[in-house]
Amino acid sequence: MTEKPALSVVAPCFNEEGVLPAFLSRVGAVLDRLGGTSEIVVVDDGSRDGTWQAMVKAAAHDPRIVAVQLMRNHGHQLALTAGLSVCRGERVLIIDADLQDPPKLLPDMMVLMDQGADVVYGQRRARRGESLFKRATAAAFYRLIGRMTDVEIPLDAGDFRLVTRRVLDLLLAMPERHRFVRGMVAWIGGRQVALPYDRQPRAAGESKYPLGKMIRFAADAITAFSVVPLMASMTIGWIMAAVGFAFFVYSIVGWLLGLNLPGWTSLMAAIGLLGGMQFLMLGIIGAYLGRLYDQSKGRPLFMIREIVGGPK
Ligand code: UDP
Ligand code: MG
Repeated sequence: MTEKPALSVVAPCFNEEGVLPAFLSRVGAVLDRLGGTSEIVVVDDGSRDGTWQAMVKAAAHDPRIVAVQLMRNHGHQLALTAGLSVCRGERVLIIDADLQDPPKLLPDMMVLMDQGADVVYGQRRARRGESLFKRATAAAFYRLIGRMTDVEIPLDAGDFRLVTRRVLDLLLAMPERHRFVRGMVAWIGGRQVALPYDRQPRAAGESKYPLGKMIRFAADAITAFSVVPLMASMTIGWIMAAVGFAFFVYSIVGWLLGLNLPGWTSLMAAIGLLGGMQFLMLGIIGAYLGRLYDQSKGRPLFMIREIVGGPK
């Protein structure tokens, strides 16, 4: 292989034959203006249209283009991860293929990175050409996850961002299977800088994120970054245990005062005590399972940004 390029552009593509030529020429033009060595890694995420043929054709004409074909459709986040693991640049731009994220912002992102940013993420000021439903669900999602996690995941930012090789290597070293890339990048930390922009309408074709995929995406994000659902099971466990115990006491007191029908006391006391204990035990199992889950994600315990001084 030849020398490593200074910059890689990585775009996942699913049934994007309609936008691919425009995407490649727009990105190519921006790279030409920037100068320096670069590559464009496009990943065909099991498309059923002519996306792959278009990629192969483009790669034959432009040596900067690297086309990657996945075996089948793996979904946006994994297709992106495939591209990120193939790219070799010192800096990496993550971008959608549909031109909703304008490639012309790249020079501004490069300047912010020259000034020391580890990550420059595009933050959506406006979302043009997207349905009210899409905008409302997206806004709700970013606010919900913001409240449910300690990680500072920026509001209204997609995966459109420029990251350093250092951040990319840390990201790729995280072995978790359900990947919420923008959250993982936020979790890494370092100097993360926002660049506000107006999201454009899709250049061609339709959104490749139907409702089912959106729900799965949100579920992956929340379970990977929040223990709130787990804590809820613990809280409910304690409440039910208290209610069950109160019921137990109530039935015993009734029995002592001779108010209960024969047989009612033992039945209700057992239901109250056992029911309460079961909920509490479920909560406790949940807490251990949560820790096991955290451990199994295999994320690094800490990440060093820089070391200065010491022996060379
Ligand atoms: N995408 C993908 N695999 C999928 C779905 C989407 O690689 O299963 C790509 C798609 O080609 C696009 C990006 O992910 O480059 C974002 O998808 P889309 O624009 O459809 O999402 P939206 O902007 O509507 O949220
Ligand atoms: Mg899009």
